[in-house]
Amino acid sequence: MKYFLLLCLSYFYLSANAHIFVFHRFGDDRHPSTNTTIEQLKTQFEYFKNNGYKVVPTSDIIDKLKAKVDIPDNWVAFHIDDSYKSFYENGLPLFKEYNYPFSLFVYVEATQKKYNDFMTWEQIKESSKYGEISLHSYSHEHLTKLSNEELIKDTKTSYEIFEEEMGFKPKGYVYPFGEYNEEVKQTIKSFGFDYIGNQNSGSVNKNIRQI
Ligand SMILES: [Zn+2]
Repeated sequence: MKYFLLLCLSYFYLSANAHIFVFHRFGDDRHPSTNTTIEQLKTQFEYFKNNGYKVVPTSDIIDKLKAKVDIPDNWVAFHIDDSYKSFYENGLPLFKEYNYPFSLFVYVEATQKKYNDFMTWEQIKESSKYGEISLHSYSHEHLTKLSNEELIKDTKTSYEIFEEEMGFKPKGYVYPFGEYNEEVKQTIKSFGFDYIGNQNSGSVNKNIRQI
């Protein structure tokens, strides 16, 4: 049986083990609320480097969750939502410099329709040499406002385009805006992702819910 893991990431998860940090834009001061400056990123990376933290791909955490074993306290994972071009241009060079993996969640419509601020498929493929690439919906709608039929169509479209472009199936899915309800959860789950996440930074441990 396949495991479906919902990463309920919350700062209030007291019995925490691994820590997941969520980013959006890098070195892009047009959008301060979703931006991380390169100086801030460097400060964080230096902190992790100098304090015994191990940066791992999300799939390593999922493997531990599936095995129901403790996740080492010093594990850290980086999630990057929305596949903004500023990650490729400004963030990725620093991830490469520190040799830190990441998980990038692709807003498929933005890439497919070549929206200005978003990475191209070529840039996403190049990024996949250094991190894991997963899904962040097709249309980046508020999923709870879609009909179930629309939600299935959105997810199916994103899944198929992703697979065709990347040549592999996405392992993970992150809800746009972190919004979901029971119906959304069940529908997304039916696509067989290894894990589904919201978009908050926080902690995960082996007691996390399996859905
Ligand atoms: Zn998003």
